[in-house]
Amino acid sequence: MGLCFTKLKKFKDIPISSSPPPPPHHRYSVPQHRPAPASPPWKPSSPPPPRIATTTATTMTTQRPPNSNNIGPILAKPYTDITKLYDLDKELGRGHFGITYLCTEKATGIKYACKSISRRKLVTEKDIQDVRREILILEHLTGQPNIVEFKGAYEDTEHLHLVMELCSGGELFDRIAAKGSYSEKEASGIGMQILNVVHVCHFMGVMHRDLKPENFLMVNTTEDSPLMATDFGLSVFIEEGRTYREIVGSAYYIAPEVLGRSYGKEIDVWSAGVILYILLCGFPPFWAETERGILEAIRNNHVDFDSSPWPSISNAAKDLLKKLLTKDPKKRITAAEALEHPWLQKDGEASDAPIDSAVLIRMKQFRAMNKLKKLALKVMAESLQSEEELKGLRQMFNNIDTDRSGTITYEELKTGLTKLGSRLSETEIQQLMDAADVDRNGTIDYIEFITATMHKHRLEKEEILFKAFKHFDVDNSGFITRDELRQAMEKYGMGDDATIDEVIKDVDTNNDGRINYDEFAAMMRKGTVEVDGQQRRDY
Ligand code: ADP
Ligand code: MG
Repeated sequence: MGLCFTKLKKFKDIPISSSPPPPPHHRYSVPQHRPAPASPPWKPSSPPPPRIATTTATTMTTQRPPNSNNIGPILAKPYTDITKLYDLDKELGRGHFGITYLCTEKATGIKYACKSISRRKLVTEKDIQDVRREILILEHLTGQPNIVEFKGAYEDTEHLHLVMELCSGGELFDRIAAKGSYSEKEASGIGMQILNVVHVCHFMGVMHRDLKPENFLMVNTTEDSPLMATDFGLSVFIEEGRTYREIVGSAYYIAPEVLGRSYGKEIDVWSAGVILYILLCGFPPFWAETERGILEAIRNNHVDFDSSPWPSISNAAKDLLKKLLTKDPKKRITAAEALEHPWLQKDGEASDAPIDSAVLIRMKQFRAMNKLKKLALKVMAESLQSEEELKGLRQMFNNIDTDRSGTITYEELKTGLTKLGSRLSETEIQQLMDAADVDRNGTIDYIEFITATMHKHRLEKEEILFKAFKHFDVDNSGFITRDELRQAMEKYGMGDDATIDEVIKDVDTNNDGRINYDEFAAMMRKGTVEVDGQQRRDY
C-alpha cells in the first residue's frame, strides 16, 4: 500500500476547514491601458457556497451537493449547459486537475480550448478555493501579452469548464524538438517571452508558482508564433510582506527557498532560469533519477556552466543565467531587470549560430521522459477512480506484461500503449522505455513502472491520500477513532483488539487516542519503497 504514496509531500499545508482571506488584488495598481478586469462570475457578496466534501469518497461519486435552486456551488451562479453554447471536440491535453478539449462556440464558429475539471476532483474546501482563485487570476491577467486570453467559466452538475483562447501550436519543447536545429537567438526570443510572463504576473500582483515548459504553449504553428502561459492553477495573488511556505511546483523548476519553506515571487524568476538553462544545454541544471535527488541537488549543488556545451555558449547567456539562478532570492535579478539584459535584446548578444546538435538530442530525451509521466497520468486518471488504486496499477502492469514475466519489454510496452490508444512512433516508444528503465537492463520491472507512473502531480497525490483518510473517517469528524479503525479492519479480517492497539500506538503520535490527518499521512509515508517521508520532514 505504501508504494502508492512514495512521493508524497508534506501535508501540513492542507487546511481542512479554515478558509484563507480573499485575494487582495485590489491592492495592486492595474495599468491604465488595459481594460478593467471583468467582474467575477460569482457574486462576492453571496453566501459561501456549500461544501462538497461532506461525504466519503465512495458516496461522493453519486451524491450531489445540497442545492435547492440550481445554483452551482463553485461559481454560485445558475448551472449552464455548456453544450448549448459550445461543441466540445477532441481532447487537447490533460494536467493535474483538468482535461482540456478543443471546442467551437456555436454562435460564432470560433475555436477555443475548454479545460474541464470534474467536480468530483474538487474534494476539499481548499480545492474549491484554489479553482476559484485560478479563475480570478485568469480574469485578472487576460489581455496581457504572453498570457492566454480568458473567455469564461461555466459550471454544470458534473464539471467546471474554463474556456480560453486556443493555443494550437503545441508545447514549447515539442516545437523545439521538431526543429532540426536552433540558435541562441531563438532561445533568446523564447527567454524574452518567458521573462515577460514573469514580469506581467509580478506587475499585476500574481506569483505564478508553476512555471515549466509544459505550461507554455504556442498560439499557432507558424515559425514566429507567440508563446502563451496557460496554467494558473497554482498561482496566488501576492500579499505584500507575506512569507509563503507551501511546497508547490514541479521538481526541476522549484527554487531552493521553496524547499526552505519561506519564499516570495522571486521563485518565478528562478523557474524561468531553469527553463532557459534547459533551452541552451538540453538538460536541467539540477538532475537526479529520483525526485528526492533532484530536490537535494537544488539545495546543495552549484549550477554547472563548465561541461559541454557551455564553453560554446556566449558569455552573455551564461551571465544572465547566473543572475536568474542565484540561490539567494534577495540577490536574484528581478524579471524587470532581466528583460533589460543584453542577451535578451532583439539586436543583442545572442548569436545566430546553431547550437550544438547534442543539445537538441538531449532535450528530446528530456521531453520524452516527461511525456511518459504525462501518459502515466492519463492512464492513472482512468484507472485510479476507485479506492482500488494500487490494484488498478498492478492490473495495468499485468495487462502490459503479457507473458507474465514480471517485467515489461519494449515489445510489450509498444503493444500495451497501442491498446491504450496511443499513436506514438517506434522511436518515441523507445525513448519512453529508456526513460522508465532506470537500471538500464532493457526491461521495466514493477518497481520502475510504479515509480514512473507515480510521478504524479502533488495535488493528485494529496487527493488520493485525503480520500483514503475520508474513507476511514466514516462520521467525518476529522479523526479516525478506535471504533472506525476496528470497523475498517474487520472488513479485512484483522479487527482483533491487540492489532488495533498496536496500530493506534504506532500511528497516534500525539497520544490523544485517535488518528488525525497528519498522523495518517505520516503513517502512509512509512515503509515506502523510497523512504522519503523523513527527508521531507526536514525541508
Ligand atoms: P492543469 O492545471 O490540469 O495542469 P493545464 O491548464 O496545464 O491543466 O492544461 C492541461 C493541458 O491541456 C496542457 O498541458 C495542454 O496540453 C492543454 N491545454 C491547456 N490549455 C490549452 C489551450 N489554451 N490551448 C490548447 N491546449 C491547451
Ligand atoms: Mg499544467
